[in-house]
Amino acid sequence: MKNYDVAIIGAGAGGLNASFEAINLGKKVVLIDKFKPGGECTWSGCIPSKALIQIAKEVKTAQSFAPISIDSKQIMKKVRALIETAHQGESVDVLNEAGIDYVNGYATFKDANTLHVEGLEIKADKIIIATGSSAAVPPIKGLNHVNYLTNSSIFLQEELPKEIIILGGGAIGVELSQAMQRLGVQVQLVEMEETILYREEQEMACMLQTTLEQEGINFYTSHKAVEVKEDDTGITVVIEQDGNKKTITANAILLASGRKPNVEGLNLEEIGVTYHSRGIEVNEFYETSIPNIYAVGDVVGPYLFSHTGGLQGKQAIQNAFADKKEGINFQHVAWCTFTDPELARTGMTEKQAREQYDNRIQVYTLDYSDLDRAIVDEKTKGKAKVICDEKGLILGASILGERACEMLCELQILKSHNIPFYSLQKAIHPYPGYSELLLMMSHEAYNNQ
Ligand SMILES: Cc1cc2nc3c(=O)[nH]c(=O)nc-3n(C[C@H](O)[C@H](O)[C@H](O)COP(=O)(O)OP(=O)(O)OC[C@H]3O[C@@H](n4cnc5c(N)ncnc54)[C@H](O)[C@@H]3O)c2cc1C
Repeated sequence: MKNYDVAIIGAGAGGLNASFEAINLGKKVVLIDKFKPGGECTWSGCIPSKALIQIAKEVKTAQSFAPISIDSKQIMKKVRALIETAHQGESVDVLNEAGIDYVNGYATFKDANTLHVEGLEIKADKIIIATGSSAAVPPIKGLNHVNYLTNSSIFLQEELPKEIIILGGGAIGVELSQAMQRLGVQVQLVEMEETILYREEQEMACMLQTTLEQEGINFYTSHKAVEVKEDDTGITVVIEQDGNKKTITANAILLASGRKPNVEGLNLEEIGVTYHSRGIEVNEFYETSIPNIYAVGDVVGPYLFSHTGGLQGKQAIQNAFADKKEGINFQHVAWCTFTDPELARTGMTEKQAREQYDNRIQVYTLDYSDLDRAIVDEKTKGKAKVICDEKGLILGASILGERACEMLCELQILKSHNIPFYSLQKAIHPYPGYSELLLMMSHEAYNNQ
């Protein structure tokens, strides 16, 4: 039996950040994972998806100058090579060197302070659950009898299929649909809501959908998949809209229609850790129903991002061992859908702000076509929107366009530190950069004071 200050289950963004934070506090740490360190982000999430997106972007640029052939076997190999490179920063050697004990195996609770991992018994004062989430399999007739792909299997494919049906128009489905379509796959995407990315600023989600349609993706929004079949010729999906059914076919199907928390097999019921369909129940400091057990990342939510999971992991350790208790301020969460153009967001949409602030808001918008740099780069498809309260503080912002993710971070600093948007106009921005767009918008905010 081994004794630790803290045992962490799951070596993804949440677990890795928690482990390093515990080492910083001088604690004895064991990190347990049934696979290699890195979690979904490294092996089947952010890293491979962004690698595929970047390759697809470069292919599209090359094709605008000359016809080129695409070898998807080479592309998939390259994606896996990039995963391995990213993994080097979090390998078992790196963890051990930092002082973290790494145990490879499936962890199950024996009691609130004891874990079983493949015959090994591990005792710890505090335990952090960071077991992540998996692709949900929607209850669609026939789906269980079909060879479907998920984010766990798509990046392991030898080559890309010729045609694919994607179920789900959230960030995962939309990012992969564009990357694959650009790499020669005919993509059909089915989404129940009226638009893709329905939680985003609607105007921008629609602009993005139009761009993707122009690239050749067939969208079936406001459609529900009701039946899936597979035979020698491929996959058939029956989709329904207002009671009318039609069928679509392809060689492959990818599930991107939601996530489920990884709570099974941990023995949580036995030890009294409460959970529901969206994850383990925690308070604002990530404490579960059992006082010495914490839970962070996708297994908790509400946001399923590496950066929120990582921050929760750090904070859970601080809450467990340090005097100050802290949780994420969910008003200041930012994220990005890494399509081309990117769609980045922080805080509220205009609709949410109008409802919450009874229309007492200021909305500043500007198109990328007004920006010299975007004109030169031929990246004029895009728009930024910043929503402020009466004092000029940012309530929310969305940017659709080239480098949107990086540009949003400038607004994110202002927003997180309660600095009025109009203050930006006093900061000199290099010309011709994309961030000049924000500077131009802040002039208007300054004049509005
Ligand atoms: C295609 C795709 C693209 C994405 N892109 C982005 C992006 O661009 N930006 C972003 O911020 N987020 C992105 N995400 C989301 C991001 O990957 C997750 O939010 C993040 O990985 C969650 O981290 P985590 O630590 O909670 O869980 P995970 O990374 O899932 O780690 C959980 C770990 O726990 C292990 N585990 C589970 N149960 C046990 C057990 N009983 N015993 C031992 N080990 C166990 C698993 O093997 C796994 O390694 C993407 C997700 C997908 C699917």
